[in-house]
Amino acid sequence: MVERDAKVSSRSLARVYPLVVDKAYGVNIEDVDGNRFLDFNSGIAVMNLGYSHPRIVEAVKHQAELITHGAFLEFYADVPTEFSEKLLSFIPSMDRVFLTNSGTESVEAAMKLARHYTKRKYFISFYGSFHGRSLGALSLTSSKIVHRKDFGPFLPVIHVPYANPYRCPLRASEDECAQACLDYITNVVFKTEVSPEEVAAIFVEPVQGEGGYVVPPKDFLKGLREICTKYGILYVDDEVQAGCFRTGRFLATEHFGVEPDVVCLAKALGGGLPLGAIVCKADFMTWPPGSHASTFGGNMLSCAAGIATLDVVKEKGFGSNVLNSGATIISYLKELQQESSFIGDVRGLGLMIGLELVKNKESKETNTQMRDAVVHDAFEKGLLLLPAGESSIRIAPPIIIGREDIEAGLEILGKSIQKHI
Ligand code: PLP
Repeated sequence: MVERDAKVSSRSLARVYPLVVDKAYGVNIEDVDGNRFLDFNSGIAVMNLGYSHPRIVEAVKHQAELITHGAFLEFYADVPTEFSEKLLSFIPSMDRVFLTNSGTESVEAAMKLARHYTKRKYFISFYGSFHGRSLGALSLTSSKIVHRKDFGPFLPVIHVPYANPYRCPLRASEDECAQACLDYITNVVFKTEVSPEEVAAIFVEPVQGEGGYVVPPKDFLKGLREICTKYGILYVDDEVQAGCFRTGRFLATEHFGVEPDVVCLAKALGGGLPLGAIVCKADFMTWPPGSHASTFGGNMLSCAAGIATLDVVKEKGFGSNVLNSGATIISYLKELQQESSFIGDVRGLGLMIGLELVKNKESKETNTQMRDAVVHDAFEKGLLLLPAGESSIRIAPPIIIGREDIEAGLEILGKSIQKHI
């Protein structure tokens, strides 16, 4: 199968493990030989409610028998409208939704919206960020050179340092990192590279995902909000990976007390079916009818799965369970960190947790080789983990995960780490 795939699939695809999946349920994936794996990645933060969630399966089956696709461009339908209404109930300060099929498409739509509304050309995003791979979204992305090499020239995007308290890109102390990164925008970029009046939007991940599951200091996002407000720049909150209760709140930004202007969502929104959205206040939607649309955006099957997903996460206590599960994992990893000179940092919000491996704690030199070895060893033992950034492991299991699966996964992770340190 792996050989057959290698003959026909695009060469641009890179798989992390030689796993050929057969079926999946809850937190488990089974391969074609009947081996079972615990998925601590949730299909890259998509399967927040686990695989084959009965409510999603039921909703999709029911919808498939009624109608799967009716171009939302041609006529109206209740399912996408109901989905949009439910989505807005999680973000009460906003009142408009544009539906897409992926994170990249959401980001692309937000870029166009920002340009249309502000009539400005430039964007700001962060080193280490990932916003997608179409040419607009890729212009914002800056996490790995392989994503960008030979694809330019790009749209006018200025990349600036993201406040990483463990490894401040401007070499400021942990406490001063947020201010140093904010000052860089106002004192360097706005004074030497682009006037703030030409910047349409700042795109920011509330927790940097592909860049290493980096949680910024609270003041950082607050400071960005102030800059945006002061200069009439749109604050675009990319919640494609962090949203939908991954961090214990519907939007990760809620942890920081910041109100964005536009929110980009996708991944977990459709419970495993392709569904994304941008959400904003009506004032920002100045684009006229016909100016932006998508054939599959608002697809009936995806929206039916999305409605079921939102109904499940709306249940009382959902967010606090995620926070409790996250706290259990973080406290286990912190204990492991005390025993090891190679675990440099443990960080996270809810079930978006990063573990950074280093050559030694003083120099903080990245340890990509050890990280890759741990990920590989865990796979051999039946645990799926993914790398993020240069030397971090991301831990993002389905957020419905129970105590037993958490303990089983951590036991494997602990053994894989101990084997390599
Ligand atoms: N934005 C963020 C924060 C992401 O993590 C991703 C994907 O990992 C994207 C955008 C792009 O989403 P998609 O792969 O659905 O196009």
